[in-house]
Amino acid sequence: MLDINSSIQYIKGVGEKKAGLFNKLGIFSVRDLIEYYPRAYEDRTNKITVSECESGSVACIEATMITPVKEHFVRRGMTLYKCDFTDGNTVIHVTIFNNKYLAAALKLYENYILYGKIEKNLTSAKMASPEIEKAKGSAAVRPIYHATGRLNSKAIEKVVKTALENLDKFSETLPAEIRLKYKLVSLDFALRQIHFPKDSESLEKARDRLIFEELLTLQLGLLKLKGRRRVKTDIIIKKDYTGEFINLLPFKPTGAQLRAIKECCADMASGYPMNRLLQGDVGSGKTAVAAGIIYTAVKNGYQCALMAPTEILATQHAETLYNMLGGAGIRTQLLTGSTPKKEKRRIKEALLDGETDLIIGTHALIQNDVEFKNLGLVITDEQHRFGVNQRANLAMKGSEAHTLVMSATPIPRTLALMIYGDLDISVLDELPPGRQTVRTDVVDSRYHKRIYAFIKKQIDAGNQAYIVCPLVEEGESENMISAEKYAEELSENDFKGINIGLLHGKMKAAQKENVMRAFADGDIKLLVATTVIEVGVDVPAATVMVIENAERFGLSQLHQLRGRVGRGKAQSYCILISDSKSETAVQRLKTMKKYSDGFKIADMDLKLRGPGDFFGNRQHGLPKLKIADMLENMEILRKCRECADEILAEDYNLDMPKYKTLAGNISEMFRNSAAN
Ligand code: ADP
Ligand code: MG
Repeated sequence: MLDINSSIQYIKGVGEKKAGLFNKLGIFSVRDLIEYYPRAYEDRTNKITVSECESGSVACIEATMITPVKEHFVRRGMTLYKCDFTDGNTVIHVTIFNNKYLAAALKLYENYILYGKIEKNLTSAKMASPEIEKAKGSAAVRPIYHATGRLNSKAIEKVVKTALENLDKFSETLPAEIRLKYKLVSLDFALRQIHFPKDSESLEKARDRLIFEELLTLQLGLLKLKGRRRVKTDIIIKKDYTGEFINLLPFKPTGAQLRAIKECCADMASGYPMNRLLQGDVGSGKTAVAAGIIYTAVKNGYQCALMAPTEILATQHAETLYNMLGGAGIRTQLLTGSTPKKEKRRIKEALLDGETDLIIGTHALIQNDVEFKNLGLVITDEQHRFGVNQRANLAMKGSEAHTLVMSATPIPRTLALMIYGDLDISVLDELPPGRQTVRTDVVDSRYHKRIYAFIKKQIDAGNQAYIVCPLVEEGESENMISAEKYAEELSENDFKGINIGLLHGKMKAAQKENVMRAFADGDIKLLVATTVIEVGVDVPAATVMVIENAERFGLSQLHQLRGRVGRGKAQSYCILISDSKSETAVQRLKTMKKYSDGFKIADMDLKLRGPGDFFGNRQHGLPKLKIADMLENMEILRKCRECADEILAEDYNLDMPKYKTLAGNISEMFRNSAAN
């Protein structure tokens, strides 16, 4: 018998060379192979005749071969083999490309199953390169695997089959009462049926079971992560200074902002470290929430750190918070890569001595470089690309500080609850009053002149504008030059005499900052930029956002960019320029025109891009899933959350024998995700 943990080389028929090919697919052990689930299935239980199928569809037809194979040499490396079949009524002309062996194996007047796309006309049908198999003995539902060039799906299927035949019954991982309650088939049934299902009903049961187990493992892991942090903290921020803080604000906070501040203050007073996510659309006013809880923390005698993903953003936060809180005696410092060495040393000393209350800087800098006298609260901004492990480390080495993560990626709340199962969540679901929606238009490049004229008029009226050119990848010098050229051309032609700024990823931090500052001060009227402005920068006088090659941006990116305007009182505009005819691109741009609500746009994004993309591992930083899909399987996910809560209530440490395998699987799943 085969051992599930042994190398795949122990499977009959797998030599060193083949094992190497499997390794390329990430398959090393027999277990890896068994968990290499099919990506799809061919259902051959529904054989139909030609007359029953639609032209252009994929069909499975049983037919008899009625003419011998004819060879047509097309050119070097391309030979066609043609022959005819019939299903009894209609003749099917079949073409086979290059496959000498298949052509040679076909026997006249024998019955075959043809599986593939069929094109019909009035009197006959044709199929190009269908899969052809002997009619007898073919499996009903066949698995299709992701394959590499030299290891095709059929070869994988064969090895999986051999492995399953030589493996003992898989031992059960889920306790009987859970299987009963959630109507789950046994693991053994599931693992065998997922590869070679008897019928579609068995397949569905197998999938449900495996998805359930995977999501349950994930939920348990996240909940335990959360629980691990439910170690008491000495940082108890007792007195809530929100009332005082409100008087420092130049505006009246929204109900949502107040609620979020209250939720945070309750956490910070609880005796347990806060681990909270603040979700709010662009412009919903997350910074004021941060300021509010910083104020309370500092007034209670603690230091705070605010971390931003870019220097520009850190700088802007520093300015905003200094203006808001400086007058009330909060001592704020900005620490960035471009801070001079001497100054850096001074800032760090002041922190250690407790002479600074609030330090603002980029993540790397603050996490690695600074020590505090009395750190109480850490806030991280715009962390939509943040892994679980990083989240676990958020509270900085050795500190029990309260943590708040602020994210502008709208995710439906129920889903957020599960993806960020390790965090509590506050949502800013209300925009500050008086915001008009940004008027959005989609035009093609013939409109350039008119757009420039429009921008000029806006600038003459005292407003400012952005033009964003796509920078696909940092370091793609070609694109960078194009942004530079673009700016140059504008300043020589349509915008002569107007101060144009240029901002791109390759610029030094200090340069970027100078440009951003000049734009924020209104010295630069028109900013030509790559997406470095995407995150969080706030310039209220900017009223126009023009996006070149808009089809090259994703929906959430476009939404973020558009969020850069409409921050002041004046009507703002977003102009999306695109010549793309691609259907999804057109759909995406239409969505932007139609909707302004980030949550709505996120929904559409899911629909258009498919969940796999939207929740690619990089975005939420969770362990990679093998079979489950958090969006497609929302219903199961919900049940798993419930089940996980029940399990932890019964046996928090998963010490009971019945949870032993499950506990092992959790460590395995999260250990593997340590790489991300
Ligand atoms: P985001 O959530 O995108 O980080 P910001 O914190 O940058 O949003 O706030 C966006 C703009 O809205 C800022 O100019 C800020 O001053 C303003 N703002 C925030 N809250 C309010 C409010 N309650 N009333 C009016 N303006 C507000
Ligand atoms: Mg922000």
